[in-house]
This record gives sequence, C-alpha cells and structure tokens, in this order.
Amino acid sequence: MRRRLFLRTRARNGPLRLAVALAMLAATVLLGGSAAGAAQAPQAADGCYTWDEELSQGASGDAVTQLQIRVGGYPASGEVLAVDGEFGPATEAAVERFQSAYGLSKTGVADTETYEQIYQLQDDDCSPAHFDFAELNSCNSDWSGGAVGAEEAKSNALRTMWKLEALRHALGDEPITVTSGFRSTGCNDSVGGAPDSRHLYGDAADLVSDNHTLCELAQAARDRGFHGILGPGYPGHDDHAHVDHRSSQYWDAPDCGI
Ligand code: ZN
Repeated sequence: MRRRLFLRTRARNGPLRLAVALAMLAATVLLGGSAAGAAQAPQAADGCYTWDEELSQGASGDAVTQLQIRVGGYPASGEVLAVDGEFGPATEAAVERFQSAYGLSKTGVADTETYEQIYQLQDDDCSPAHFDFAELNSCNSDWSGGAVGAEEAKSNALRTMWKLEALRHALGDEPITVTSGFRSTGCNDSVGGAPDSRHLYGDAADLVSDNHTLCELAQAARDRGFHGILGPGYPGHDDHAHVDHRSSQYWDAPDCGI
C-alpha cells in the first residue's frame, strides 16, 4: 500500500491558496485559537466527505471507493470504472482524465488539487453540483419499491449523477435535464416502462437538453461510463436519451450511428 501523507503536500501554494491560508490564519487569530493547531487538523471540506490523505496506485479502502464514485465519469472510452475500493491502473487513468478535464496537474494521484476540485463540485449531500437526488427520483418516493433496496437504489443514483456531471462538463457545462430516474414498480408501470427497466434499479436516467441534440447526449455518454445507452431510432426513445448501468454493454441509437 503506497500512501503519502496528505498534510505534507500542501506546499504548492498558488496565490489563491496563500490567500485562503491567510484568511484561515486571520479567522483563527480572531477566534483565539492556535494557528498551528488549525493547520494540522484536516478541515472538513463540506458536509459529505473529506479525504485526509493522497491516494495513488496500491491504495485501498473506503477513501478509494469514494474517489471512484466521483471520477466514475472518466473511464476509458466504452469502459466502466469499477467502484471496488482498489486503486489500480484504471482508477489512476480516470483520475488523470478528471485532472485534464479541469485543467489540473495530470498526476494520476488523488492529491490536494484534485480533492479541492471535487469539493467544488460536491454538495453537502454528496451529489454533484448540477444534479440532485430529487431530480433522479421520478416518483418522489423514498427509493423503495424498485428492483433493489432503497439504499442501493439511492447509491446507484449517486453514481449515475457523477457520471452525468462528467457528461455535462464534457459537453461544455450546458444544462442537461433528467426527465426520469429511479422508479418504483408501480411508478414504472404507470409510465409504461419495460418490466425489467434499469429505472427500477435507480441507475438509469432519461436525458434532454436545450443545448444539445439527443444524439450528442447519446454519443458523449459512450465515454462517460454507461453500459446502457438508448436513443433516437430505438423504439420509444425519439424524445430522450437513456443511460444506465446494466451489467454488459448495450448501446442502441441507430439514428445517431450508435
Ligand atoms: Zn429510460
């Protein structure tokens, strides 16, 4: 296991980081605390999750799992990044792609700069900035009544949202709307969903956008970690692009050349 201590890596101070450090120091002095103590204690980045060390190849555990969820939209084209808590070559490559996408130093190591970018994208409930759980919950339910338990359905929706955030960023950060996400069995029946729909698992999303054609959405989804893509030309999919996490790849959007 190769892990580097997070706090030793904070030396690369750009002007912004220096300003932040000075502001933190000022706040600490105002509060009557010890500046040294404040510098050593990992500061909670938000209400969701805070990494306290760098992660690189060979690392494992929940911190890696949390990282994999956030960089899940940056796999090799056509691939799906495993969320298994093991930081291997695929995770390293995904971290590199994430870093490139946001103009960070391309190190393949989840470092301070990488975490700060994730924190910028991450809301307190762990959803990415431009998607939320309510949007992924078509029936306004408690996530129960689908093909998996409520906790798993919600967890699947979270993974989907981070991939959608990557999709949105890849397409120029223009808004993408989810018109349908998790469905309970009753909800799925009421909208005429397929009996084995991935919407029952919480890992599917139907997408539209005022800024992109459905084919642009479907084509871009191929690089964002979606095993299932259905779009224009596939029965029932001429008014949205559908993405999901079925176990093996099935892409069908004939009008888009997919
Ligand atoms: Zn769908």
